Amino acid sequence: MAFELPALPYAQDALAPHISAETLEYHYGKHHKTYVDNLNKLVDGTDNASKSLEEIIMSSEAGLFNNSAQVWNHTFFWNCLTPNGGGAPTGELADRINSSFGSYEDFKAQITEAGLTQFGSGWAWLVEDGSGLSIMKTPNADLPMKHSAKALFTIDVWEHAYYIDYRNARAKFIEVVLDNLVNWDFVAANLAA
Ligand code: MN
Repeated sequence: MAFELPALPYAQDALAPHISAETLEYHYGKHHKTYVDNLNKLVDGTDNASKSLEEIIMSSEAGLFNNSAQVWNHTFFWNCLTPNGGGAPTGELADRINSSFGSYEDFKAQITEAGLTQFGSGWAWLVEDGSGLSIMKTPNADLPMKHSAKALFTIDVWEHAYYIDYRNARAKFIEVVLDNLVNWDFVAANLAA
């Protein structure tokens, strides 16, 4: 059973003007799809063909890890976004963020700093690491499950995530995502899972 590119949870133009349809055409339709295609080529005819995506991620390195993790990361990232999202969360999630970071503004500052200081390609994350909520940054395809942490939210800070809409302005992209696109219902569901 080959891995499939999951459908986007919204229309390709639904995140505009913050993330354009053209960006999703490339980022989802080409980059994410290529990771799925490469993963299928790597597992075809091997024992890995019958494993789950998570099993492959946890047991692999190099090309197989990079492609399987990038399939997971991108599916997770699309679900972290929603039209008319962003801003401060409410309810228990707000309480957890306030107790872990001091305030929503402090959380926002820390995840922005993580995204900006991830040299080259990678990801900025909100995670649950057993002792509470914390911020993590990972290079390339690396992800929290490889570090015994549960991913709650992420921002893709590879250049392909923002170059069409924001050119080199990674800081602007991060700000726009946090202010307009965060799917807090998905983040809360991850925390409760
Ligand atoms: Mn990406």
